[in-house]
Amino acid sequence: MLRINDILDKVQSYLSPDQMAMIEKAYVFTAAVHQGQIRLSGEPYLTHPMEVCGILADMKLDVATLVTGLLHDTVEDTLTTLDQIEENFGKDVAFLVDGLTKIGKITFESKEKRKAENYRKMILAMSTDIRILMVKLADRLHNMRTLQFQPQEKQLLIAQETLDLYAPLANRLGINWMKTELEDLSFRFLDFDAYSELARRVAKKQDKRREYTNQVKQIIQREMERSNIKGRVEGRAKHFYSIYQKMKEQNIDFDEVYDLTAFRIILDSDNVKDCYEALSMIHALWKPVPGRFKDYIAMPKANHYQSLHTTVIGPSGERVEIQIRTQAMHEWAEDGIAAHWLYKEGREISKDDEEIKRLRDLLDIQQEVQNPREFMSSLKIALFPEEVYVFTPKGEVKAFPKGATPIDFAYSIHTDVGHTCIGAKVNRAIVPLKYQLQNGDSVEIITQAGHHPSKDWLKYAVTSKALSKIRNWVKTEELEKSLSLGQDLLEKEFKKHNLKLGTASKSVEMQQIMKELHLSSFEDLLSSIGYGRISPKHIVRHFVGEGEEKKDEVVEKKPRKDRPGEEIGVSLTGLDDIMIRFAKCCHPIPGDEIIGYISRGRGVIVHTTSCPHVRDMDPERLVNVHWNIKDKKDYQVDMKVVCHDSKGVLAAISSAISAQDVNIESADVTTNNSNNTVTCFFGLNVGNLNQFKDVVDAVKRVRGIISAERVKPS
Ligand code: MN
Repeated sequence: MLRINDILDKVQSYLSPDQMAMIEKAYVFTAAVHQGQIRLSGEPYLTHPMEVCGILADMKLDVATLVTGLLHDTVEDTLTTLDQIEENFGKDVAFLVDGLTKIGKITFESKEKRKAENYRKMILAMSTDIRILMVKLADRLHNMRTLQFQPQEKQLLIAQETLDLYAPLANRLGINWMKTELEDLSFRFLDFDAYSELARRVAKKQDKRREYTNQVKQIIQREMERSNIKGRVEGRAKHFYSIYQKMKEQNIDFDEVYDLTAFRIILDSDNVKDCYEALSMIHALWKPVPGRFKDYIAMPKANHYQSLHTTVIGPSGERVEIQIRTQAMHEWAEDGIAAHWLYKEGREISKDDEEIKRLRDLLDIQQEVQNPREFMSSLKIALFPEEVYVFTPKGEVKAFPKGATPIDFAYSIHTDVGHTCIGAKVNRAIVPLKYQLQNGDSVEIITQAGHHPSKDWLKYAVTSKALSKIRNWVKTEELEKSLSLGQDLLEKEFKKHNLKLGTASKSVEMQQIMKELHLSSFEDLLSSIGYGRISPKHIVRHFVGEGEEKKDEVVEKKPRKDRPGEEIGVSLTGLDDIMIRFAKCCHPIPGDEIIGYISRGRGVIVHTTSCPHVRDMDPERLVNVHWNIKDKKDYQVDMKVVCHDSKGVLAAISSAISAQDVNIESADVTTNNSNNTVTCFFGLNVGNLNQFKDVVDAVKRVRGIISAERVKPS
């Protein structure tokens, strides 16, 4: 078992005494909170954080990462809180531990390879600091090293997850040794028979191979000396999983796998030219196998791996794979991103450092690194800053652009789910539709048959799919509404003249009108009326004579709710004959600024422009209207008066109102005993806004009045 002194030995070469004291403090803390917990192996739980910290120490990572390694399971598995972590070890460590706790909740159970990529991205997106991912990988590595203590079912699950998620992530960060070990461990637990058979066969050939390896190494070294190329040669057995993959991919037997050993030439020089020189030396020595040369120096791999790879026909007629690289390339190949934390004596980390540039490039770091010294501790990465990854109820991962809402999620499932979506549950709690999805959220959409999208949704959706589906729906909906309104208005106008729209619509005259108005169909005509672009009166005029029209208007005089605009003193630009009524919410009176709303089949409803309901209305159905008063009429308006409850106050208010030549239609009085006040609502009939203002002023002059004002719609 790894002891605290072993860890301190590992880090004393690159950490300060203060930093080492911090690690000791974390050790004491984690030992205390994990006290009494036992791993399945029977060992104290403490062994796990210690080993994880040891792995991180071997990678020479910074003190916050090592402390996080020791504390990574405390919040998840003990009573420790994040606040306690922050109090004892600072914000940085608390942030890292929190990140690990969140990632710890993700489990990947899908067998489908293509879905694994989304999970990997989700983990990367949640690793808002690269050190979170480093600790997670070290955690997984130690769990894989001790996987034999888990029940078999769990072994398979964890091994598969490791192979699908964590080995590729280690590869992505360029940490080859870790990727290799994770792959071999996974292989061992997933297919023990194949693994042990391979191990047995590799071992059987071991002596022979060692002899052969030494022979090849010596030849290369001798040749390098002769060509004055400085560097070292390594011959290493390939890892089991890569041999196994080769056998499977090329469908060959173990005996047909020639290159169980990979040779590497690692040059002392950092000059790339020397790599090509070494390559031509090798090709002069042994015949290259055509099509096997790969130049990863000119064209690095996605994880920035660089090397020259070639396969040649070796000394005993066998294929030999050789990699050629510089020392810097080698460090990158083995430790990847971790190579940047490797402490190098006398070497300042410079902002312009080639490798730092490469790292930043790889991690897509947008922000400038101000102070290179801060670089190590403040390296916050966002690998997919523009994306967010969430779970479906079935546990699948879906990717969305940042800022996406449940509406986007709903439309990504199906158009109908989007259209009928009325709400959403995120992590089992109801959220509003404008909620912005967060990484790792579990999203469930609530639908209701018959429900429809709203124009508001356009403000909340961000995916083009959702936006275009909502737009289409709104457009169709509006067209339908104006069609039916147009039909209504035109039918009424025809009825007025005892004409039938049905017959007229198919007449030659109608065709003529449509031609004049450049309308291609009767439906276009109806929707144009509905949108308020054409007056129905204009259409009817073609079907009745002048005199007849006048006669009809006389017949029409009967009391009704909807009255032509001129009767109530309101004109509608371009639509003088449409039915108009006042909104009940805001009761406009002459002097108010007003606006009309083309309602569905109920004519135009006039609101004050300040009416709060106007804001929610479809702007395309709003039309300009203006006052056009020919003779005095009465307009209804409501007034609210609050006054002290004293004898005669109501009578005083009434007479003040009457003195302004205004009728009181209704009065409603409530006494508030708690503060001895009275609230009255008066329904008044006034001629215009000025008259009403006079009433308010007069009422305010009454003794005992606290306030008097027009009732505003809410
Ligand atoms: Mn752990």
